[in-house]
Amino acid sequence: MKVLVVDDSRVARRIVTKHLQATPAYEAAEVLEAPSGEEGLALFDTSIDVVISDWNMPGISGLQFVQQLREREKSWDRTDEEAVPVVMITTEGTIDKVMEALDSGVKEYVIKPFTAETLIAALNRVMD
Ligand SMILES: [Mg+2]
Repeated sequence: MKVLVVDDSRVARRIVTKHLQATPAYEAAEVLEAPSGEEGLALFDTSIDVVISDWNMPGISGLQFVQQLREREKSWDRTDEEAVPVVMITTEGTIDKVMEALDSGVKEYVIKPFTAETLIAALNRVMD
């Protein structure tokens, strides 16, 4: 399994990666980290199984990042069902916007600060 973690905070990326490594179902996953949506797009290819992305980032937002992922998947002829699942990491203030993002194919979100249990539960739901 390959997981792409996109967050402008290095600490946040490390926390997500540590939670994955501490969870039996994900401990063997290969985790790629990107500090921006732009760099996340550069790492996004057909081998990525799931994306965990921050919403608030300098440069393109988490939403724009996901929209561009979807465009790329369309160019690969992926159907909506085949689209890579995305867990969005957000703050209290952006929940309304994230609800809109759910329409753009964001499957789950977690609110900062989050526990390992919350993150893993969201991940389990999208990986079902
Ligand atoms: Mg951020």
